[in-house]
Amino acid sequence: MAAHDAWALICRLFAGGTPVLRTTLSPRDVAVLPVLGKAVKPTVVDQSFVLCPHCQQHRAQVWGDGRGGRRCRCPDCGPVTVEAADGATLALDEDWLRQKMRLALGIESRDGIDDLGDGVWRLGDARRSPVLLSRDLTRVLQEPALLERVRVAGGDVRVVTPRPRTTRGAPFGAGVEWLTLEERFTFYGGGITFFAAPPSTIPATVDPATPVNGPFSADFKWAKLPDGDGTPIRFTDGQAKVFEALWSLKGEATTAERIMQRAGLDSAKPSDLFKIKTKDKGKPEPEAQHAAYGALVVTQRRAGLYSMPCAAGALASSPHQTSGKGETFMA
Ligand SMILES: [Zn+2]
Repeated sequence: MAAHDAWALICRLFAGGTPVLRTTLSPRDVAVLPVLGKAVKPTVVDQSFVLCPHCQQHRAQVWGDGRGGRRCRCPDCGPVTVEAADGATLALDEDWLRQKMRLALGIESRDGIDDLGDGVWRLGDARRSPVLLSRDLTRVLQEPALLERVRVAGGDVRVVTPRPRTTRGAPFGAGVEWLTLEERFTFYGGGITFFAAPPSTIPATVDPATPVNGPFSADFKWAKLPDGDGTPIRFTDGQAKVFEALWSLKGEATTAERIMQRAGLDSAKPSDLFKIKTKDKGKPEPEAQHAAYGALVVTQRRAGLYSMPCAAGALASSPHQTSGKGETFMA
């Protein structure tokens, strides 16, 4: 388990991006420090503030006690003596991490590592695929221009990030492969090893309900509502066609006729497909489908217009895709 614990600590230090006080490490963390060798280094930080050695809850300012010693004033604990070791900090050698990641991914390009700023690096090209390492998935999602900066013709971009606390399915569209640091790499023999195939325990790789188009799966037959309990809602073929048609309209309000034409259905209006039949009253699936329609589709009754706001700003829709988009990896 030492290698696993060691890698978990590396991932945490990378995600945090700042030195940590040695006193805040768990006994398991401390036990793997010798294994980590050069990957983690003691650092010198400003010791005018320390994490209160008593409660470890507050950062408190450090004062001389007038007798050559030092104390901090914790808002909860009051004056607490600070030993020299209490301020000792450790940091991940991030240059080590980036170099070992290059080795793990087989990046041999002669160009070096580019610092793209704010915790994003271009590690190089692995078999013509540019690889980005980011401290934070959100950063890349919020700045798609980063991907365009490194994209090359004919190759997917690979983005390596620590796994955020909450993620749903595949965060990127086609042409971008997301690799989680914790699951796709590990610490081994003083270096880093890459798992070419995703671990089979990640349901997102096989789950057809994985949200790809906003809350919808690739085939629009499933959705996970933002306010829902995380359980995907399954739709009938007709319902999926309605959602796909609305998705292709990118949030634009339009008539029932146009939507139903796009969906290739005979019903008069989209809501027809989501009505709960008398015999289905109280059944969870039709109720959930009906509720999903109500949550996702906005109806302007007087004007007779329908729209789906979550589709606004959607990238080109990619209908009829099979599952596992962005999760396959070249062997
Ligand atoms: Zn305290």
